[in-house]
Amino acid sequence: MTIETVLSHRCELGEGPVWDTELGMIWWIDILKGEIHRYDPKTGLHERQLTGQLVGSVALRSRGGLVAAMEHGFYLVDFENRSVQPVADPEPHLPGNRFNDGKCDPAGRFWAGTMSMRDENGTGALYRLDEDRSVTAEITGVGCSNGLAWSADGGTFYYIDSLARDVKAFDYDIISGQIYNSRTIVQFSPEIGYPDGMTIDDEGMLWIALWDGWKVIRCDPGSGKLLYEITLPVSRVTSCTFGGADLTDLYITTAWTGLRDDDLAHQPLAGCLFVVKNIGYRGVPAERCSY
Ligand code: CA
Repeated sequence: MTIETVLSHRCELGEGPVWDTELGMIWWIDILKGEIHRYDPKTGLHERQLTGQLVGSVALRSRGGLVAAMEHGFYLVDFENRSVQPVADPEPHLPGNRFNDGKCDPAGRFWAGTMSMRDENGTGALYRLDEDRSVTAEITGVGCSNGLAWSADGGTFYYIDSLARDVKAFDYDIISGQIYNSRTIVQFSPEIGYPDGMTIDDEGMLWIALWDGWKVIRCDPGSGKLLYEITLPVSRVTSCTFGGADLTDLYITTAWTGLRDDDLAHQPLAGCLFVVKNIGYRGVPAERCSY
């Protein structure tokens, strides 16, 4: 297995990779720089948009462009014109929070969660943005809202609260968008690091990035068992997604934020976007938001 850097650019807090099957490009963000990045592996063109606020996650829109969850709520993003348009802000009363990880569900709704910027536990929530642009809190009391994934049959939702160090599964009603019947399916011990971003492959297995854990792991959501792992040359591994023409390349985002100088000296690639080509597993295409 060869772990390559996609390009030499290093994000302070690289996150949220999304493979765009129409463009054949990888999108990701630098949360703390407020940047949305896009890279075309065919041409080597790397572009970015500065949003002007912290940006937690983006998803593709079926009408073109992106939906973003940012410091001050949900926005539509026109990357070609480098503009953003506010949609809704569910937390104007919580200025110490910001949006974090998010993803589009199988019905075309955007989900994204929040977290405290002051290390408070339990102030976050997971929100669903419906097509009529109404916002519903589906989970409250969250520590650090992170990875999301849906099973291929649309019946199960998987969710990571990093501070709870677990992955939970919920029954998911694709018609209403509601989730219920929460159960913990993987619990991480402190020495493994914090579970962060997540994706799912075409066999229904979860791929989980481990913050301060140096790894991406593949887990069986049925048994909770570890099936496979990739060790990165950096400790702060934040998220992953499958990309490439056949969805057989695994893209992995990382961060250098918060590392001490001596850690950084040993991790010169911290913050890079990595790829493992032809990893031997296949992802599923990213859903597109119907807005
Ligand atoms: Ca994250």
